[in-house]
Amino acid sequence: MSRLTKDEAAARLAEINARMNDACDVAKRAQGSARLVAVSKTFDAEAVRPFLEAGQRIFGENRVQEAKAKWPQLRDQYSGVELHLIGPLQSNKVREALELFDVIETLDREKLAAEFAKERERGMKLPKLYCQVNTGEEEQKAGIRPRGCDAFVKTCCDNYGLEIEGLMCIPPVDQPSGPHFALLNKMADKLNLSVRSMGMSADYEEAIWCGATHVRVGSALFGSRDGLRSK
Ligand SMILES: *Cc1c(COP(=O)(O)O)cnc(C)c1O
Repeated sequence: MSRLTKDEAAARLAEINARMNDACDVAKRAQGSARLVAVSKTFDAEAVRPFLEAGQRIFGENRVQEAKAKWPQLRDQYSGVELHLIGPLQSNKVREALELFDVIETLDREKLAAEFAKERERGMKLPKLYCQVNTGEEEQKAGIRPRGCDAFVKTCCDNYGLEIEGLMCIPPVDQPSGPHFALLNKMADKLNLSVRSMGMSADYEEAIWCGATHVRVGSALFGSRDGLRSK
């Protein structure tokens, strides 16, 4: 696994941030109105460190166990880290996830909502919550179907007292992302949710044109995950 120097990490961050600002300009949005979530999955603590040194503070991980192996120690060394869970959450890992993450982007079923409510009852502080929407209605993909989204968000609020801040989607790999981003944006508007997490290395600018408030960028920052387990 290649390690970048702090300067190399800073240069990559600067380039992505500049392109994000340009995308905001094109969309007539305020610069800085979209946040960069640096997706560090599959990269170990030492590969992440240069990005922390360069000032990045928002990171995304897709596995609870992997996050647990690297982040508690990094958090001790760098203040202000905001860690997002962007991968599927099994209900038997809820407790651990609540201890590790500041934001869980992948709330997608009532069972999880119930688990969160139960943990809160036991005194656990809940992270910020986004619902994952399966905009492409793909069989194998996690997320609520678009048609069920309004009801699901309402159930989370009314039945479990959860505050949902936003929506997240991962468009199908074999389709243009634009229509999926537009759909997610429209759904969030309708539900009055401020956060839209969408766009990855290949399409984060387009996501910003479509209203993304958070883009999740991995390989464009850390390099290719080829040969590593990835998702
Ligand atoms: C891996 C991953 C990303 C980052 O993908 P890149 O193409 O490497 O930028 C974004 N979102 C989710 C949910 C992911 O699993």
